[in-house]
Amino acid sequence: MRYAVAMSQPSTAAVRSVADRLSAFGSTIFTEISRLAIEHDAINLGQGFPNFDGPDFVKQAAINAIKDGHGQYARMFGIAELNRVIAARFNADAGLGVDPDAEVTVTSGCTEALIATFLGLVNPEEEVILFEPYYDSYRACVAMAGAEPKFVTLRPPDFAVNEQELRAAFSTKTRAILVNTPHNPTGKVFTTSELELIAALCKEHDAIAICDEVYERLVFDAEHVQLATLDGMYERTVTLSSLGKTFSLTGWKVGWAIAPPELTAGVRAAHQFITFATATPLQHGAVAALEAPDSYYAEFVEAYRRRRDVLVEGLERIGFEVYVPNGTYFVLADHTCFGFADDVAFCQHLIKEVGVAAIPPSAFYHDPADGKNLVRFAFCKDEQTLRDAIGRLEALRR
Ligand code: PMP
Ligand code: GLN
Repeated sequence: MRYAVAMSQPSTAAVRSVADRLSAFGSTIFTEISRLAIEHDAINLGQGFPNFDGPDFVKQAAINAIKDGHGQYARMFGIAELNRVIAARFNADAGLGVDPDAEVTVTSGCTEALIATFLGLVNPEEEVILFEPYYDSYRACVAMAGAEPKFVTLRPPDFAVNEQELRAAFSTKTRAILVNTPHNPTGKVFTTSELELIAALCKEHDAIAICDEVYERLVFDAEHVQLATLDGMYERTVTLSSLGKTFSLTGWKVGWAIAPPELTAGVRAAHQFITFATATPLQHGAVAALEAPDSYYAEFVEAYRRRRDVLVEGLERIGFEVYVPNGTYFVLADHTCFGFADDVAFCQHLIKEVGVAAIPPSAFYHDPADGKNLVRFAFCKDEQTLRDAIGRLEALRR
């Protein structure tokens, strides 16, 4: 009772809200757009989550683990079987020989792997190079680590790395560069020569690379090259990935970080205090996922190629200038021919008047003006949903 009375007194001192390091970020664009999509009953091609379920053999393995009593904390850096299959798959892809127990850390999604890497390996005031447009959590990770972001802009139509700009971004304070390939939101797959340039600059400046490869299996007309495989790079690279995209289970939040023991020590130093360990039964499910035969991945990428083609063809027919993605499940397009002031105005119109939700990419630039002509659509939806969305977008032509 006394508590309730005290709570009802008018407050004299304002309670400080969000800490300074995060107050500038507000809520994420994905939360915001998904909320509006529900409110306006729009087809949600905004936030990247499939509208179909992950495979039964993965779900069944997690169900079995729950029934079999795998209900207690997992080993801090991952259950032994999962570390083993992550290392085996990475070694097969990369031709390397990583040790599952010394060099693999299981995390709660790539999102946790990212923040654990930043907090565990980057000191305050060190610089981190981000390519922009960037996935939004990178910039928040830099801020949470108290580090300084340096931006290198990838520009349409091909979003190529500009060598001069990249060289100029490195300094004596550079600790890390974040490389996301295949790249959200552009759909770009970094070329071998771009990765070689990044590798040379990392070595020259004694910087580490943080490589976000969550879309590693979603590659259409290109080859996904892992930075860690380039000469002299494994020892200075943390490779991050997760289950979410490749197995259409974004809600499971099982991810991992692969790095040599010296860098793994930093990742684990943070991970043990962020989540300590990742949900045990879902780790058992992840073992079944990563043991999937090659045919699973082949069918997966072909289904996505069809979805990409449906969306790209539809957008082009309607009049968008489309930057056809080589990877990921996103497509960027230029909307300027429709006459809106910027991407936010365009996306508001799409959600409220057209009934399709998309992401305004200005959220992915440190200067929002750089993204104002663009719009990002996700094609991780069944083909009929994509066709329905195209049908609605036809209204833009009228
Ligand atoms: N990195 C990128 C580039 C992403 O697009 C996403 C998607 N959500 C993530 C990381 C986060 O992955 P997870 O859901 O495994 O945390
Ligand atoms: N990665 C997803 C996207 O880019 C969003 C994930 C999230 O909402 N944090 O759409």
